[in-house]
Amino acid sequence: MLTELEQRAAGLESDLVRAQTALGDVQREVAKAEADVQLVRDRSARDQSRLDAGTGSAKDLQAISHELQSLARRQSELEDVELEVMERAEAAEAEVGRLTAERSAVRNEVDEVAATRDAALADLDAEAKQVGAPRADIVAGVGEDLVALYEKIRANSGGLGAAALRQRRCGGCQLELNNVDMNRIKAAPADELLRCEECRRILVRTAESGL
Ligand SMILES: [Zn+2]
Repeated sequence: MLTELEQRAAGLESDLVRAQTALGDVQREVAKAEADVQLVRDRSARDQSRLDAGTGSAKDLQAISHELQSLARRQSELEDVELEVMERAEAAEAEVGRLTAERSAVRNEVDEVAATRDAALADLDAEAKQVGAPRADIVAGVGEDLVALYEKIRANSGGLGAAALRQRRCGGCQLELNNVDMNRIKAAPADELLRCEECRRILVRTAESGL
């Protein structure tokens, strides 16, 4: 379940990067379209003021008048292009927004599932001390792969595969973690499976971990 969610999160992450790149591209197109329109507007304004001033020969003024007509057509074409590009920019922005929201929802889900897993690992730990084998409902909560890992570690470490991290100490080997390890754990995402560097047991973060 966690792996599946992590894959979804990774997929969304790369979709988002692609969408952001597409948005950047279309935003550059918008800027260019705006500049193209502005160029024609400026030229029209210059022509219009020359026409209004009425200076120059009748032939000159007629040429300016013709140019103004073709500039008006050109402006209208460029404004259509601008509109089309702006619509695409809006769609690209909406896509980035949608993917950002979806990604944060999946990330929250990953954190929740990881917290559930950690709680189940702690149960597994308590259970193993009593009966020696994990209960089926706990196996379901933790996942078969992780239980297999847990069992392997348990077999190699005197019957305790997972241990709670409390007051900077591993509940398995009772050794205090150094600052480097504590900082690494602090920075680790909630879904990362932590191992004690000393005894290799699975470390479960708790509210009293000292993080
Ligand atoms: Zn340890």
